[in-house]
Amino acid sequence: MTLTVQPRREELGLKDGLLYVDGRWRAAHDGSTWTHRHPATGETVGGFAVAGAPDVEDAVTAARRAFDAWSRERAGARVKLLHRYAELLRTHADELRGLQALDNGVPLSFGGIYATSVDMAADAFDHHAGWVDKAGGQTLPPYQGGDHIAMTFREPVGVVAAILPWNAPFVLFAQKLAPALAAGCTVVLKPSEYATFCVLRMVDLLAEAGLPDGVVNVVTGPGDPTGEALIAHPGVDKISFTGSREVGRRIVQASAGMLQRVSLELGGKSPAIVFEDAEDVGLAAMTTMGAVTMGLSGQACVAHTRALVHRTVYDEFLDAAQGMAGMITYGDPFDPSVLAGPLINERQLDRVLGHISRGREERARLVIGGERLAGELCAGNFVAPTIFADADNASTIAQEEIFGPVLAVVPFADEEEAVRLANDTEYGLGAGVYTGNAKRAFRVARALRAGLVGVNGFQLEPHVPFGGYKQSGLGREGGLAAFEAYTELKTVLLPLTDELM
Ligand code: NAD
Repeated sequence: MTLTVQPRREELGLKDGLLYVDGRWRAAHDGSTWTHRHPATGETVGGFAVAGAPDVEDAVTAARRAFDAWSRERAGARVKLLHRYAELLRTHADELRGLQALDNGVPLSFGGIYATSVDMAADAFDHHAGWVDKAGGQTLPPYQGGDHIAMTFREPVGVVAAILPWNAPFVLFAQKLAPALAAGCTVVLKPSEYATFCVLRMVDLLAEAGLPDGVVNVVTGPGDPTGEALIAHPGVDKISFTGSREVGRRIVQASAGMLQRVSLELGGKSPAIVFEDAEDVGLAAMTTMGAVTMGLSGQACVAHTRALVHRTVYDEFLDAAQGMAGMITYGDPFDPSVLAGPLINERQLDRVLGHISRGREERARLVIGGERLAGELCAGNFVAPTIFADADNASTIAQEEIFGPVLAVVPFADEEEAVRLANDTEYGLGAGVYTGNAKRAFRVARALRAGLVGVNGFQLEPHVPFGGYKQSGLGREGGLAAFEAYTELKTVLLPLTDELM
């Protein structure tokens, strides 16, 4: 039987996508469109407008025009709107999960897992609504004497270009838009060309919640021309980007001319460190392999794709990880028993298969997987869960972000070696520490050069800062740190007498 997602298109009432500029849905000026092919079946799912420079110009102009009123909107009105939107998201969660499955092939089963869910996106809006009326400053006494005071104010940074990847569109949409809107910024949003339809529906719901025209505008299309036009636009005050390190570097270059503010959430090669005193080595292995295979098939920035395992529990770890690999099911993303999705496109499929070949050349031991899935899955971009044991930490498969269902396992002898290997990477997004010893857990967590360290597992939530050290990014999303990143800090100096200070 051939896999098809076509009937779902009709069921979800999917229409071709348009740009959203100044509260109006419309085609691109030059009529350009993009055709989206489904990653699990190769079928055409639908199309959407490709924004060129003139469309981006309109969107930035609309955001700039809307800024004065939105940045001065009463706190109470902004709070209510953000909460209303959070409720609308919850009401439409099933529909949005369906649209996501049509976009990026993430199965419905995984679309409900909190860390990538509509629920977490809604909670992020509720969380950031809470900061709106708490954006206070300081009142400082004179330092050298004189009769004056200094006051600080948090003010919105201005027009934000928010650029999303395809892999977790609900949560990443929310982790950018919720703090930006809470702070009083206006936004030009560019979704990934591989996850556009669900994002357009989320924007539709913003309008339904009562967001004024021009506060959020959407330009759809690929990096070139749409993304390039957006990052080059002088009317953008801040670029908030989540995606690959390569595009992150390009954004830093593009922002250099006008010194726009930049936040970057980039890739990772995060280690799971499993000590000999871990309470449940099997569970550590299943958690690690699960994150590299389930749902996104390893296309998750923070997945622990490098397992550093103490020699005494090494075989136990490999057995359990292999067992987990055997449990992963593939197929129709709308089938609730399907646990993992395809790679997003053929370029990514080639990249992952290329890395697997490199792993073989580098003489790591292939324990399981290593091939493309066949049969009814042959039209999709599916790769079998893959484990390389005895990998050299300096080798390509242990250093490069593969963004596929591939785990590299490296043995270690003691804690010092584990920390050294863990930090021996250009990235610094996440890490996991598995140990039954609380002192060791803190000692190692503090020694790791990574933004998010989980001890014996981890749970992402909207109020905790998330982001990377080193080449994994700049800045943090989630919580107060994210809200502040959409503000400028202004100091007002006020003499209290007619004397000059
Ligand atoms: P990508 O860098 O290819 O694309 C991300 C976005 O940038 C897309 O919207 C794309 O159209 C746009 N883009 C591409 N070229 C551009 C250009 N020249 N100018 C402006 N915009 C451009 O990444 P992807 O494949 O969508 O996502 C995978 C990457 O994202 C991985 O590296 C992953 O680790 C990273 N990621 C990081 C986080 C995090 O929070 N740290 C979360 C999810 C994904």
